[in-house]
Amino acid sequence: MIAETFFDSSTWVLTRNLTGFLVVVFWLTTAFWVYKDARRRIDDPWLAGMAAVLGLVPPFVGPIVYLFLRPPDSIEERRDRDLDNRALEDRLAERGLRCPVCRGHVDTSYVVCPVCSTRLKQACGSCGAPLEAIWQACPYCAEPVPAAAAPGEELLQPLRNRPTT
Ligand SMILES: [Zn+2]
Ligand SMILES: [Zn+2]
Repeated sequence: MIAETFFDSSTWVLTRNLTGFLVVVFWLTTAFWVYKDARRRIDDPWLAGMAAVLGLVPPFVGPIVYLFLRPPDSIEERRDRDLDNRALEDRLAERGLRCPVCRGHVDTSYVVCPVCSTRLKQACGSCGAPLEAIWQACPYCAEPVPAAAAPGEELLQPLRNRPTT
């Protein structure tokens, strides 16, 4: 009657308490990681709060779900990329060239419009460099430019560069 089963033993109680403690610590650690990661990636405080709650409940499953749903890059990375894009836009805007079809900013070095893929210039048949309409030879590789593009295949030129003939 006094036979102690394993589950009554103090070893079992200690093991159970220790395991429970470690699980709780691990749970809080994952939740805290989600909270920190969400603050770094999510701009909207409400959404970030939702992510933090998701990190807490359901335990362990929440953080895994969060991993699948989180934004791929941090707020800082997005801001840097926006600044880069804006700087490029500004540089192109300074030159004042625009695609005649979509009015997107283009550069004199572009063969096609990157926005709508309209062909802006003829490319050198030998080295692929963009050629101005009046050039008789490619200045980069000395390849003579064919007299004219195939009939009916008139190339669209940026407005400022369009030949006035
Ligand atoms: Zn365009
Ligand atoms: Zn060339």
